[in-house]
Amino acid sequence: MSNIVMESWTLEEGTRKATELFESAYGYSPEALHSAPGRVNVIGEHTDYNGGFALPMALPHRTYAAVSQRDDRIVRLVSAQEEGVREVNLDEVDTHDSKNPVEGWPAYVVGVAWALEQQGRGKMPGLDLAIDSCVPFGAGLSSSAALECAVAVAWDALMAQTDNWISMMTTTKGRKELVDACISAENEIAGAPTGGMDQAASMRCRAGAVILLDSKDASIRHIPFDLESVGLEMLVIDTRAPHRLADGQYANRRGTCEVAAKKLGVEYLASLTRDTDLSALNEEEQKRARHVITETARTLDFVELLEDGALTDERLGLIGSLMTASHESLRADYEVTVPELDIAVETALEYGAVGARMTGGGFGGSAIALVRKHQASAIMDEITKRFAKEDFNQPHFLHARPSAPAN
Ligand code: ADP
Ligand code: MG
Repeated sequence: MSNIVMESWTLEEGTRKATELFESAYGYSPEALHSAPGRVNVIGEHTDYNGGFALPMALPHRTYAAVSQRDDRIVRLVSAQEEGVREVNLDEVDTHDSKNPVEGWPAYVVGVAWALEQQGRGKMPGLDLAIDSCVPFGAGLSSSAALECAVAVAWDALMAQTDNWISMMTTTKGRKELVDACISAENEIAGAPTGGMDQAASMRCRAGAVILLDSKDASIRHIPFDLESVGLEMLVIDTRAPHRLADGQYANRRGTCEVAAKKLGVEYLASLTRDTDLSALNEEEQKRARHVITETARTLDFVELLEDGALTDERLGLIGSLMTASHESLRADYEVTVPELDIAVETALEYGAVGARMTGGGFGGSAIALVRKHQASAIMDEITKRFAKEDFNQPHFLHARPSAPAN
């Protein structure tokens, strides 16, 4: 059985695909091409709603948008991943809870224009738009943020050609405001709750670096993590595990953390240290709190190791151990893994990964393994075999390294 690898596209490939789709849908050539990456969280899981840190990196996998400005308020959209050409009038965009919500995937696109208008930037022009993407959907790799961020920079770049618009994507402040617009688009127009890590990663990451994201104030710090230079890659394993009864589990974990924080007299669990006495909590609360506290410590240790100096074998070993300990904590204390995630991690480690863990919310989705490039194919072979033996869906793999932001 051969491995299924979801290859990332070069800029030329992405440009050609989106351009061809544009030309076949609208019969003329697009004015501009923009793109934005998906992301994966390296460490710092289930800490965002606990006042803690996450450490995402952008994938080399991107969503490409070929665009032309129109002189009315109509957005025509087509996506290689969806059926048909859709049309939305920007004057009719209303929130998801209104009587007339925008149905389906166009909400992620027109929501961005709506949000920029809400920021008081004046009316946005209509667009003809064609989307193509190599970011897998619903694998926890944030295809939604990639889509929003690609169209956000497209609108910004088109508007920046006019006199009354200062380019947003060329400044830090502007990129932050674009992140905010993409978050409101997803929350309010698409009606999907999202914390903001995805949009920050897609809009503000840097090639060869991870982002330390502080959930308390959404501030970020870039930390160099140049895997290429030391012959490593981040292998992403999309387990394609079926959605089990995960509904309500997220709210349940969140609720338990809130109760635990209250009992311990703090606003957020992430502000506590490892030596905190947890005996006032019941057993379940203790486990959840222990995950949040140790995960926060692991994330900061990870950053310290990266900032301390070169990625020597010794330092890589420590980094890998932190990733693996994160998985163990999510499995035993936070209880959000499923057999597919555990087996992907276990197999990757057995066949030489430096470290491995589930990533994202859990209950399915993806795992990541920090691997030496020359070991990647053996690790993929073994995971594919093991999944077949267990009668799991066949996993998909992505070769990843910290990549460039929306542009
Ligand atoms: P993910 O973890 O991939 O972000 P989400 O459920 O948040 O999963 O977002 C997936 C949704 O985003 C899709 O169902 C679709 O509505 C929209 N989307 C993402 N990428 C595209 C694309 N290339 N074309 C059309 N819609 C897309
Ligand atoms: Mg998403």
